[in-house]
Amino acid sequence: MTTQSAKAADLNAIKLDAPIFDPQAFRLTDAQAEIMSTARRLGQTVFTGRAATYDREARFPSENYKDLHTSGLLGIAIPKKHGGLGADYQTYAITAAEIGRYCGATALTWNMHVCSTLWSGPLADDLEMDAATRAEHERRRAIHYKRIIDQGAIYSQPFSEGGAAAAGGVAFGTEAKPVKGGWIVNGKKIFASLSGHADYYGVLCTELAEGEKASRRNTLYLAVPAKAEGVSVVGDWDPLGMRGTVSRTLIFKDVFVAEDEALMPRGVYFKAASSWPHMFLTLSPTYVGLAQAAYDFTVRYLRGEMPGTPPVKRRMYPTKQIAVAQMQIKLEQIKAIWFQAVTEAGPNPSKEQVLRAYAAQYSAMEGANEIATLAIRTCGGQAMLKSLPLERIYRDSRCGSLMLPWTAELCLDRIGREALYEAGESDA
Ligand SMILES: Cc1cc2nc3c(=O)[nH]c(=O)nc-3n(C[C@H](O)[C@H](O)[C@H](O)COP(=O)(O)OP(=O)(O)OC[C@H]3O[C@@H](n4cnc5c(N)ncnc54)[C@H](O)[C@@H]3O)c2cc1C
Repeated sequence: MTTQSAKAADLNAIKLDAPIFDPQAFRLTDAQAEIMSTARRLGQTVFTGRAATYDREARFPSENYKDLHTSGLLGIAIPKKHGGLGADYQTYAITAAEIGRYCGATALTWNMHVCSTLWSGPLADDLEMDAATRAEHERRRAIHYKRIIDQGAIYSQPFSEGGAAAAGGVAFGTEAKPVKGGWIVNGKKIFASLSGHADYYGVLCTELAEGEKASRRNTLYLAVPAKAEGVSVVGDWDPLGMRGTVSRTLIFKDVFVAEDEALMPRGVYFKAASSWPHMFLTLSPTYVGLAQAAYDFTVRYLRGEMPGTPPVKRRMYPTKQIAVAQMQIKLEQIKAIWFQAVTEAGPNPSKEQVLRAYAAQYSAMEGANEIATLAIRTCGGQAMLKSLPLERIYRDSRCGSLMLPWTAELCLDRIGREALYEAGESDA
């Protein structure tokens, strides 16, 4: 047996962690369980060991992306007829949570990549399009999917600009001027995860003909080739957490983008954002994984079973037991509401379902950090050293509430208002 195949055999012999969502208890199919276990195996055997280096060096997890490609997970949401795994929204979400458990930065950046296929794939299939537009979309998305499946191409999602556009308030400031065969794109995107590492930047911009007024209805979703002339990455990246996402600033200066780079036909992104709101819940699976990771760490540490630490048991103290009970209750609450929200995701949800999606996002984003905070207090000083993953989980989990368009603040804002006012109502 060669060394390499011996190593592969070792990996297969490893006892996998129990899934976050037990397939039987959560009524998942065998196919879903298999995709989740591929992610868990990669996470547990490979990603977890690399995570500290990516974090310390604020370096993009390029090696993990090669593994995601080899294992098929780069094409998780690409329809089977295009060579992908054909996962639907729920399958993607529960799989992404498994990746987040082992490396937050990989899960979060993988989310940006997968969403370019999920939104142009199963989600777009739910939206109304006339036959000609549908056929054009089908032809174009096949080009993107082929790049991912055949070459391991990586896509990102730089939407944020520092103003109100990423929160859905106004039209994007990045502009696409129609020209023969495509568009000329000008603008700037901040916090662009995967910058310098994605092959295509999936940019939201406003199509603007000469003399026209910017409108959110004219939002275009274009894959800008990273190597196109006029694309540059600027600024440094030295944040509190999610350091491996490398979310620097992207500048587009007179970049020509060909028509076939459109990830969605004209007008379809606007339709998607208004009729498929759960598309914005896709940033949360990473943080469900981090919540589980903080809990897993605590149980192992208190049992004296954490690799890299002396086998000292601390589980006999009643205060530790109460803290673990609080963490477990919080984790089950997050899992329950979040699983319901990702299971019922679909077009034209009811008001109750939209409010639940906000509540699920808030619960995952704030809850992951609450569990990590309790984990640090409960495990104590020796557990927050940088040689162990807990302090990274704590820092990474703090970033969830900041993710536009559904930041924790915006979720509170919308739940409060939409619960108290029906559409069109005011007090004037
Ligand atoms: C690790 C990480 C990776 C990221 N990756 C990406 C990426 O790949 N692509 C991408 O597009 N973005 C990404 N983001 C960006 C993110 O979505 C935010 O745009 C970013 O954090 C900068 O926004 P801000 O908090 O400075 O926003 P500001 O606009 O300054 O808002 C500050 C806060 O005010 C609140 N707020 C904003 N607008 C309103 C409003 N209308 N009403 C009430 N309250 C409001 C929100 O709670 C917001 O958090 C990433 C962020 C992080 C932390």
